[in-house]
Amino acid sequence: MPLITPDYYDIASLLSEEERMVRDTVRSFVDDEVLPIIEKHFQDATFPIHLVKRCGDLGMFGPTIPEEYGGGGMNSVCYGLICQELERGDSALRSAVSVQGSLVMYPIWRYANEDLKRKWLPRLASGDAIGCFGLTEPDYGSNPSGMLTNARETDSGYVLNGTKMWITNGSLADVAVVWGKLDGVVRGFIVEKGTPGFSAPEMKGKHSLRASVTSELVLEDCEIPKTHIFPDIKGLKGPLSCLTQARYGISWGAIGAAIAVFESSVKYATTRIQFDRPIGGFQLVQDKLVWMLNEITKAQLLALRLGRLKDEGTMRPQQVSLAKRNNVWMALECARMARDIHGANGILDEYPIMRHAANLESVKTYEGTHDIHTLILGADITGIDAYT
Ligand SMILES: Cc1cc2nc3c(=O)[nH]c(=O)nc-3n(C[C@H](O)[C@H](O)[C@H](O)COP(=O)(O)OP(=O)(O)OC[C@H]3O[C@@H](n4cnc5c(N)ncnc54)[C@H](O)[C@@H]3O)c2cc1C
Repeated sequence: MPLITPDYYDIASLLSEEERMVRDTVRSFVDDEVLPIIEKHFQDATFPIHLVKRCGDLGMFGPTIPEEYGGGGMNSVCYGLICQELERGDSALRSAVSVQGSLVMYPIWRYANEDLKRKWLPRLASGDAIGCFGLTEPDYGSNPSGMLTNARETDSGYVLNGTKMWITNGSLADVAVVWGKLDGVVRGFIVEKGTPGFSAPEMKGKHSLRASVTSELVLEDCEIPKTHIFPDIKGLKGPLSCLTQARYGISWGAIGAAIAVFESSVKYATTRIQFDRPIGGFQLVQDKLVWMLNEITKAQLLALRLGRLKDEGTMRPQQVSLAKRNNVWMALECARMARDIHGANGILDEYPIMRHAANLESVKTYEGTHDIHTLILGADITGIDAYT
């Protein structure tokens, strides 16, 4: 019997009953409700918005946020497993869930006042509201410290001006967490849909993450109330603390994409006949399958250990960089090898390969590019910062 779903080191036995249940729930959801429709959404460049409420019902938004605010009160390993299973379906859905939970609910829970928490967190958790996170600007991606978006204090609140770009969920969002400078210091603001001067035009023409909505955020003399600032967090550590949460989820998510292309490759290699035998019987094809299994297994162990460190409260952001960097790279390499194993069929929409490969190109870039994570790790090893 060929090995289809890789759990070569019996990672499942290291999970609690609750963790396995969460994994299996999301796995079934992806099999039943995502895989049958996702390729068409990718082709049509549409987001499967009908799944937002389902994700809320199944507890995928803000699973680690306390239950009193509508979150799941689960541990970080559960969150990781949710990301892994979702991304086995498509990186777009995992991106939407990462943004909602890690980049919108997390900062609102940690940094916003009690009224804003009570107003937004339960609705975001249930999927009745969608959120987005605006950090990147047209001229400031890897270097957000240069951001031009700014806030001016008035008697009644703050007036925001600036443009954000590449914002996941932007045009769909009911609420945006926007980062801008007040008196030269990076601060976080809550901007609600419908606020005069705020618009979120969708960006078109992506060859990657086509089933995800990506937008600009335009702030033109956009006035928000005094209460809509994160009062106590100042500087880049605010947005970076959110990115650490999201990058953690991505390091699990990428494993899901790798599993999807591995599963397809094993099935293909054991059934596709060339030279009178399955191509999986050729050593060169086996070498690729072994590489994939090897790297998926290492990535699984890395993610699980990272999750346990996170739940113990000892995880460092640099450890997240290592896992995000490694796991996304390995998933992209798996997708490329899978494309090769599938021959010409590898480019067809009948197989998930090109969709995952194209998606992973974005995943490699967002939430800190592969190279920026290399530099973060380089600085951690040497004590010498090579990127500023
Ligand atoms: C589909 C998608 C969704 C996204 N969603 C969001 C979102 O929801 N919210 C948000 O705020 N942002 C989002 N982003 C933006 C993303 O975080 C940025 O694209 C990313 O930070 C990189 O910035 P950049 O594209 O401007 O590239 P740049 O920073 O211009 O980098 C270009 C290249 O230069 C390299 N480089 C840059 N600086 C250095 C250096 N010092 N040393 C060596 N190499 C360097 C980079 O590694 C990269 O290879 C999204 C992006 C994509 C593609």
